[in-house]
Amino acid sequence: PQLPSRLFHKDNRRLVSQIVSHYESINRCEQELPEHFNFASDVLDKWSQLEKDGKRPATAAFWWINDKGDEVKWSFEELGFLSRKAANVLSNPCELQRGDRVIVILPRIPEWWLLNVACMRTGIVFIPGTSQLTAKDIFYRLQASKAKCIITNDTLAPAVDSVIPDCQFLKTKLIVSEGSKHGWLNFQELLKVAPADHNCVKTKSRDPMLIYFTSGSTGPPKMVEHSHSSYGIGFTVSGRYWLNLTPSDIFWNTSDTGWVKSVWSSVFSPWSSGSCVFIHSMPRFEPTTIVNTLSRYPITTFCTAPTAYCMLVQHGLTRYKFMSLRHCVTGGEPLNPEVMNQWKTQTGLDIYEAYGQTETVTICANVKGMKIKPGSMGKASPPYDVQVVDDQGDILPRGEEGNIAIRIKPTRPFCLFSQYLDNPEKTASTEHGNFYITGDRGIMDEEGYFWFVGRSDDIINSSGYRIGPFEVESALIQHPAVAESAVASSPDPIRGEVVKAFVVLNPGFLSHDPEKLALELQEHVKRLLLPTNIQKEFVQELPKTVAGKIQRKVLRNKEWGRA
Ligand code: ATP
Ligand code: MG
Repeated sequence: PQLPSRLFHKDNRRLVSQIVSHYESINRCEQELPEHFNFASDVLDKWSQLEKDGKRPATAAFWWINDKGDEVKWSFEELGFLSRKAANVLSNPCELQRGDRVIVILPRIPEWWLLNVACMRTGIVFIPGTSQLTAKDIFYRLQASKAKCIITNDTLAPAVDSVIPDCQFLKTKLIVSEGSKHGWLNFQELLKVAPADHNCVKTKSRDPMLIYFTSGSTGPPKMVEHSHSSYGIGFTVSGRYWLNLTPSDIFWNTSDTGWVKSVWSSVFSPWSSGSCVFIHSMPRFEPTTIVNTLSRYPITTFCTAPTAYCMLVQHGLTRYKFMSLRHCVTGGEPLNPEVMNQWKTQTGLDIYEAYGQTETVTICANVKGMKIKPGSMGKASPPYDVQVVDDQGDILPRGEEGNIAIRIKPTRPFCLFSQYLDNPEKTASTEHGNFYITGDRGIMDEEGYFWFVGRSDDIINSSGYRIGPFEVESALIQHPAVAESAVASSPDPIRGEVVKAFVVLNPGFLSHDPEKLALELQEHVKRLLLPTNIQKEFVQELPKTVAGKIQRKVLRNKEWGRA
């Protein structure tokens, strides 16, 4: 009985090759980038054809659920049909044209995926934003991007309306809502009556497709522009090897739609492999929702943030059976080896970590079949030539700490952002010698594995020692009292700055004597790693972004009395 399933797996792999082997060769620099590329017509519509021909397994292409029991399932054909209608809504009643920009601020609802694909089909530039944006944030984004249209829901429409009078570029407002709203076109109503015929525009590989605003921790948010081929072709290798996806896989990535990880792992990587994108529109991150969903649905592949894995292992997983789960991945933040070990003990599965930025596709990854070194981000992912360089852009010897960088000369990789829009100085400031400097510090070992040390700004310089927060946090979390921690620099009259740890305690330790606990943690860290003293503060929670990333900068600024 094993044979057919193995054959099936092989067939599935062959199917993926039919669609993406050409793009994979481009990723491996064996073939030139084509002049034209469009993810909707060149990838999605091809999967739709294979599905029609009965060659793709009968898994959905998109499977969405919420906590009220609603469900949406689309095949590639249905996704094609609906996204063509959506494309006609954008072109016609919304009067948008190729090259126009549209801001889309929607939670994890199916329309977000339709509008994303509709933008590809029409050549309209898609600018996602998180639902946590305020009126002021939205105004800034509308003005900076000169967007002609904004698409949102009932929750954020009043915020948009409050800033409209001052927006000279905005022409159209489109609402995704059951009811109608004055001054807004209604997406659902228009979708119903929109024609289903639409000719996908022939976009050039280098035409802009997507703009992301960074989270703006270092000044006003920057606009990161990507071309059609950048994410469209650049995730082929990740989809196949890091995520290990085939058309029979069901991939659940928990990211919010406002974070870049959502297009990486809930659009391009899974759909290039013909897999099913699974979405739970959970309003909050609840460990119970996650484990119940993994138990009830045939999810084969799972991605969530490192902080979420941390919460899950603390919740305890041995009571649950994840019948179909076979591959787990993470990224966006460093994953503490301790969390990885516990996940493995509790579920039997490894976590394959990858590293990337809004500006890039996957920079490093642990791919299936490779030896995992807990705490490492894995090896360079093609087509990137990733090196650790000094501030002049000169390559440092293996084992030495420096800037993690991507080679951009003689050829800038097609899957690196085109530019920070309207900010040539900022774009230029990331280029040193032959390299794009990521702003992260790390080490490459003898075997080519990368080890994250910290964001350049987060590195602590204490009496001449450079200390990365990640290693201290990884040591702290090995102590049973520690649920989570964040390490940041704090001013010190003698040493200039010192290491300070903000520690969230596990519930069982809340009643312990804090002074004794602090001493114990000091001994624990010293034993594992540092001869230096670290300051400790016990806190109830850590500041985090919408993507669940720890904002060490917020803690650092507080320590230094900065705004
Ligand atoms: P901003 O640029 O506005 O400050 P951001 O850098 O947090 O926002 P992203 O582009 O989503 O926005 O995040 C990329 C950054 O996340 C990387 O530069 C790195 O610091 C961190 N990161 C991503 N993956 C990993 C990983 N596996 N290990 C450690 N850090 C990671
Ligand atoms: Mg960044």
